[in-house]
Amino acid sequence: MKFKTKGLVLKTQDISERDRLVWVLTDSHGILRAFAKGAKNIKSPKCAGTGLLSYASFSIFEGRDSYHIDEADAIEQFIGLRQDIESMSLAQYFCELCLNLCPTGQEAGDYLRLILNSLYFLSNRKRPALQIKVCFEMRLITLCGYMPDLVMCAGCGVYEAPQMVFVPHTGKLYCAACADRLGVQGVLLPAAAVTALRHTVYADFEKLFSFGLKDELLEPLSLASERYVAYMTQKDYPTLQFYKSMHSI
Ligand SMILES: [Zn+2]
Repeated sequence: MKFKTKGLVLKTQDISERDRLVWVLTDSHGILRAFAKGAKNIKSPKCAGTGLLSYASFSIFEGRDSYHIDEADAIEQFIGLRQDIESMSLAQYFCELCLNLCPTGQEAGDYLRLILNSLYFLSNRKRPALQIKVCFEMRLITLCGYMPDLVMCAGCGVYEAPQMVFVPHTGKLYCAACADRLGVQGVLLPAAAVTALRHTVYADFEKLFSFGLKDELLEPLSLASERYVAYMTQKDYPTLQFYKSMHSI
């Protein structure tokens, strides 16, 4: 059976001098692992279309136990990412998260839209990298069914306080006074960072990336979101460690 779909290449593996194996996040079938014969021939359109972080239109043949890419026409290559190792390393962390968390064998348009928009902003440097990272992490984990409870302090119910503590292993917020009284450990966030964190979870998708926050508040916010993802998925991400080693230079 043959079908057409659009998708983003999250991972590639060379399997011979001519052929590669690719993992593609598609809108129609979620993550799909497919063989791309002759894809390493640079004269073939399949070469660009099946490269890492290519968003392409695919024509795919579904065999008895494997998928084969017949055609791949690149739509977007995110050139800006390829010129900057820090942005590229963050993009690879996004790919690793998707490989771990996106569905297989079912529609995944919301996941694809999220990573495409994140890569677009990262590639064009339209937003600070850490802001894109927080938006991507919080929205992805929410799509996966792990929505944190950021509405109010879990201790006293207050909506806003000058400082609040986000607890990554429960996804709950506490005002500083309750955190102190209850002995709760977490990431301390000033009110503006709490507002931004709420935005990443509750805003309409069209407005997801549209907020401003001082650079010094992006650091604790980024720590809160990456720890929440790590706790909820029970996994450490080597690509995140690599990005952080780049980011601190
Ligand atoms: Zn409280």
